[in-house]
Amino acid sequence: MKTFDHYDARSIDEALGLLGKHRGKARLNAGGTDLLGLLKDRVLPQYPELIVNIKTIPGLDYIEEDGERLRIGALARLCDLAGSRLLQERYGVICEAALAVAGPQIRNVATIGGNLCQDVRCWYYRYPAHLGGGMLCARKGRGPCFAVKGDNRYHAVIGAGKCFAVCPSDLAVALAALDGHMTLVSHRGERRVGVGDFFSPLRNVLEADEFVKEIDVPKASVPRLQRFLKFTLRKPIDFAVVSVAAVTEVKDGIYSDARIVIGGVAPGPFRAGKAEEELIGCEPGDAVAAQAAEAALEGARPLSKNAWKIEVARALIKRTVYR
Ligand SMILES: Cc1cc2nc3c(=O)[nH]c(=O)nc-3n(C[C@H](O)[C@H](O)[C@H](O)COP(=O)(O)OP(=O)(O)OC[C@H]3O[C@@H](n4cnc5c(N)ncnc54)[C@H](O)[C@@H]3O)c2cc1C
Ligand code: SF4
Repeated sequence: MKTFDHYDARSIDEALGLLGKHRGKARLNAGGTDLLGLLKDRVLPQYPELIVNIKTIPGLDYIEEDGERLRIGALARLCDLAGSRLLQERYGVICEAALAVAGPQIRNVATIGGNLCQDVRCWYYRYPAHLGGGMLCARKGRGPCFAVKGDNRYHAVIGAGKCFAVCPSDLAVALAALDGHMTLVSHRGERRVGVGDFFSPLRNVLEADEFVKEIDVPKASVPRLQRFLKFTLRKPIDFAVVSVAAVTEVKDGIYSDARIVIGGVAPGPFRAGKAEEELIGCEPGDAVAAQAAEAALEGARPLSKNAWKIEVARALIKRTVYR
């Protein structure tokens, strides 16, 4: 690892000041479970000269409801989410997704903000420099996308542009299914971005001088069925090949609302609007679950080796929406 300066920030303002002063050469560090791996393997085209520790900022790890919304501070850890009584009772899909991340050691330090901002896992992008990697590709600002002609079995089947890497965050999928939003702050002020809109094919929308302060989700007015399922190759500690979060409401025996979001298939959490349309107005059951699954990834354009992910997504959708 190259050397860098390290600073314990005591407030968001102090962290923002350092990001501004070092213009693109400072990085925020929360749990460090993603960032330190990137630095050790020299994955990033530009190595930071300053690491700003934000875990030292007090009061940013809350999980609470106010009149309208559930609010989660960016420094809430994944173990806090999984163990929160409030989330277990009313926002179960967040707990399920948090528990599906890695193993206990990582969940004990990783934060929700870091989980949403973590970098992609494309094996070309992550190929460590000391093993002959450090490859420049479209995502790093120079070079081709190696996945297009290469081994793309885990890459995106829909919504990709110049980069086919998929969003690795399990929390993003669950939060998008709950219509979650993120509050980003900088010296220019605050802006709110939908979790689903935070990701784009080449990078997320976070500017180099911005800080994720909070994630919020609308409060549910009626009970909902919430489910998160994830398909992995290895059972413990593995990223999703495909995941699905479904949040549905049934009124008088009919689906009255549905949000279905698929992870692992696109640069961000992919909202399966066509699947939702199949459900709304119908009685829950096998047949409608199968129709929703069939419709979910209409328009997908798989690469040479990843069409199988569409079948996995269909199987997960049937299981998440079937009652
Ligand atoms: C072995 C292993 C298995 C894993 N399995 C899974 C899995 O199954 N599912 C899954 O979802 N993830 C998985 N992960 C990824 C893991 O969840 C993330 O590394 C973790 O959530 C990142 O959180 P952190 O607080 O450690 O972030 P850090 O590593 O500290 O930061 C990650 C990135 O986010 C930025 N950042 C952090 N906080 C903020 C903020 N408040 N504002 C702006 N930018 C910020 C940092 O600058 C950095 O770029 C795995 C990781 C490992 C190492
Ligand atoms: S998928 Fe993205 S990260 Fe991977 S090689 Fe292509 S451009 Fe690079």
